[in-house]
Amino acid sequence: SNHELEDKVAVRTAELARSNTELERLARHDTLTGLPNRRACDERLALEFDRMRRTGQAYAVMVLDVDHFKQVNDGHGHAAGDRVLRHVAEVLRQHLRSTDFVGRNGGEEFLVLLPQTPADEALRVAQKLRHAVDTTVPPVVEHLTISIGVSMADPTQTDAEVAVREADDQVYRAKQNGRNRVESSFMR
Ligand code: GH3
Ligand code: MG
Ligand code: MG
Repeated sequence: SNHELEDKVAVRTAELARSNTELERLARHDTLTGLPNRRACDERLALEFDRMRRTGQAYAVMVLDVDHFKQVNDGHGHAAGDRVLRHVAEVLRQHLRSTDFVGRNGGEEFLVLLPQTPADEALRVAQKLRHAVDTTVPPVVEHLTISIGVSMADPTQTDAEVAVREADDQVYRAKQNGRNRVESSFMR
């Protein structure tokens, strides 16, 4: 009957909506760590940049890179490296607020965005994350550390990538200065 057909269509439509939602989630999450993936990082960056343009409220950008991660893969295998990455993701998730953003930007590199956060507060958060990884017992290896580069987005910058590049430069400095460190573009 017509009624049965309508019911079937309604059920099928609900199923499609559910699988679309699931596909949306999969497209924006990293399957290894469950964190937002590179694409989600780019989208969130664009959103925060637009919001800052409207409100004038600055946000902080952090690039975090696992120290000597290649040694984990080389010494214990790729699967062990994967476990270590899941561990880092979990520590970062546990030490950030729900309003903060953390994603896997690629490889063993993570991106953190702190909306409406001034520079001194951003540095405090960065040190908290560095310390958390430094002091939490990891799987596979005895000790694990990360290096963090911090920068501030500001409305005079041409696009969202400027602050990310600055944070990237600061990670490089953190590595050069001995790793397990926080460096920033605004405090010398
Ligand atoms: P540094 O302290 O200078 O950052 O040294 P590093 O060894 O961490 O740096 P490098 O960039 O040389 O090595 C990163 C390694 O991360 C290389 C790559 O094989 C590994 N890697 C990237 N993505 C994954 C992944 O998803 N799983 C695993 N197991 N390894 C990955
Ligand atoms: Mg790296
Ligand atoms: Mg590294």
